[in-house]
Amino acid sequence: MNYRHIYHAGNFADVLKHAVLANVIRYFQRKDAAFRILDTHAGIGQYDLSSGEAEKTGEWRDGIGRLLAADLPGDVAALLQPYLDCVRALNPDGGVKTYPGSPRLARMLMRKQDRLSLMELHPDDYETLHVAFDGDYQVRATHLDGWLALAAHLPPKERRGIVLVDPPFEEPGEFDRLADGLAKAHRRFATGTYLLWYPIKNGAPVSAFHQTLKDLAIPKILCAELSVRSDRDTGLAGSGLVVVNPPYTLARELDILLPYLKTCLAQDRFARASRFWIAGESAHEKEDGR
Ligand code: SAM
Repeated sequence: MNYRHIYHAGNFADVLKHAVLANVIRYFQRKDAAFRILDTHAGIGQYDLSSGEAEKTGEWRDGIGRLLAADLPGDVAALLQPYLDCVRALNPDGGVKTYPGSPRLARMLMRKQDRLSLMELHPDDYETLHVAFDGDYQVRATHLDGWLALAAHLPPKERRGIVLVDPPFEEPGEFDRLADGLAKAHRRFATGTYLLWYPIKNGAPVSAFHQTLKDLAIPKILCAELSVRSDRDTGLAGSGLVVVNPPYTLARELDILLPYLKTCLAQDRFARASRFWIAGESAHEKEDGR
C-alpha cells in the first residue's frame, strides 16, 4: 500500500467529490430521521496542506486553493456553501492550511442523531484516523478492508445511508472491484445513496466501467465527470463520481456547478465537464415531476 492521500488532498478531484458529498449530506438532513455515512476508504480524516508531503505536489493549489480565491457567482456559491463553510471553519485565520478529508467533512456536517463508520486499511493512516475521532461516540473508525466492509456493514441499522467508496486505484482491477462492490452492496441495501469515485486518465477503462454499471440494472445512476486537462500525458487528468440513488436535486445542481468548476479549475484548453445518467433518467424525471 503506497498510496497516501496527503499528496493529493484538496486537489481538483477532492473538490468535486467533497462538494457533492456535502450536498448529499445536507439533502439527507431535510428529514429528521437519523442516517449513517459509511466511508470505506477513509484516509486520515483531515490534512495539513503546509506539510512537506502536500507541498511536494502542491496539488491543492489548483483545487481548493483556486476555488477559495475565486469570486463565485451567487448560485455556485450557494451550492458550494456546505463544503466551503467546513473548509473555512477549519481555517479561521483565512487561507487553507487544514483541509477536511471526507471523514472530517462528514463529521462537521452531521447532526447529533447521525453516525459515521470509517474504514482504513493502511496501518499508519488508520492510527491517525482513529486518534482523530477517539472518544467521539458518533464515529467509529475500523482497521478493515473497505471492500469487505462495503457488504458486511450494510444495511445500516438506521436504514438510511450514504456510502462513499473512494479507493486509491493503485492496484489493477480497481474498476472491476468498484462495480462488483456496488452490485453486492446494492443487493443488501438497495435504497442507499452511493458515491463511487474513479480516475480519468490515459488508459483508464471508463466506458467499459459505465457499461458494467448499466448492466447491473440498478434503477438510478447519475454520473458527473470533470477533467481539468488533456489525458494525453500520464497522471490524473480528471475524475468521475457515480451517484446511485441521487437526491432528486443533484442533477440540476451539477448543471450549475460543473461548468463553473471546469472554468475555475482548468489547466489547459482540453478541460471538460459533463453529467449524465448511466441508468434511469426517464424514470427519475417522471418521479421527480419534471
Ligand atoms: N476518502 C478520503 C477523502 O476523501 O478524504 C480519501 C481516501 S484515499 C483516496 C484512499 C484511502 O484508502 C487511502 O488512505 C488508503 O490507505 C486507503 N485504502 C487502500 N486500500 C484500502 C482498502 N482495501 N480498504 C480500506 N482502505 C484502503
